[in-house]
Amino acid sequence: MSIETTATDKPAFASSADLGEKTISFDEIGTGVYAYTAEGDPNTGVVVGDDSVLVFDAQATPAMAQTVIDRVRKVTDKPISHVVLSHYHAVRVLGAPAYGAREMICSDLAREMIVERGEQDKASEIGRFPRLFRGADSIRPGLTWPTTTFSDSMSIWLGKREVRLMKLGRGHTAGDIVAWIPDAQVSFAGDLVEYGATPYCGDAHFTDWPGTLDRLAALGSAAMVPGRGAALTGATMVADGIMGTRAFLSDLYEAVKRSRAAGHSLRETFERAHAALKPAYGGWVIFEHCLPFNVSRAYDEAGGLDHPRIWTDERDRQMWVDLRG
Ligand SMILES: [Zn+2]
Repeated sequence: MSIETTATDKPAFASSADLGEKTISFDEIGTGVYAYTAEGDPNTGVVVGDDSVLVFDAQATPAMAQTVIDRVRKVTDKPISHVVLSHYHAVRVLGAPAYGAREMICSDLAREMIVERGEQDKASEIGRFPRLFRGADSIRPGLTWPTTTFSDSMSIWLGKREVRLMKLGRGHTAGDIVAWIPDAQVSFAGDLVEYGATPYCGDAHFTDWPGTLDRLAALGSAAMVPGRGAALTGATMVADGIMGTRAFLSDLYEAVKRSRAAGHSLRETFERAHAALKPAYGGWVIFEHCLPFNVSRAYDEAGGLDHPRIWTDERDRQMWVDLRG
């Protein structure tokens, strides 16, 4: 379904009106490495090791995580021992307890962000995209806490199989990590890379993100699970995913920097950025949802604010009225 919109239309708040169910795919993209994708909804990566299974990004609720577990059970009966969280966003994290894993791992900075803004983010994300939080009453109270954190990199050994977790720099958030499975040459990118889906940049570091993508590209992945969109199979498709994300980020940030430097208000900047980006990117999933948040953060960073302001349900809705009301 495609809805023609301009910056001056009044669309429903974020993705609150998106109620259409997506089709799930579960594809083996390397030996024993699987991509759980859902037409632009958040993805999950799965690695089957010698004795146990690692899951990368948990889904939004235990009920949603169960749909991942159901797919895993079609290919292996090994226990799920590790859940890795690419970053702190609720839609990636709050389903984690469903897997019953003995280890739950994220970066030190991602944990700091859960401490600092996890509760606000949970309320904010459920309000923005209620469909992704099916079974929200199955979320355990008190957020999801990692058992292990790390600062730069760590290796998890599933028997003889290595899964290397790496912090490659700031981007989608300050604390993003990627996973690299050397024996399959496959990477899991979290929300650092999207494919046919709009990168969410409400907590982003626009200046740093392209360098982080360069380091990710240097891995030379034969296949990649992006944060949203189809699995990237083959070096050409991986490069397309990385370059498309990079082009979106630079087109957006350049438009916002220019507008801010010319003295335009946030609302005027949003309208200019929307007009500049819509022809190339308007067909990407959640474009209209993300753009007001993205421009708000880009406008702050262009003004010198390094630490992204915390989104609350209240701030979300006020921003929406200011930019889209
Ligand atoms: Zn995210």
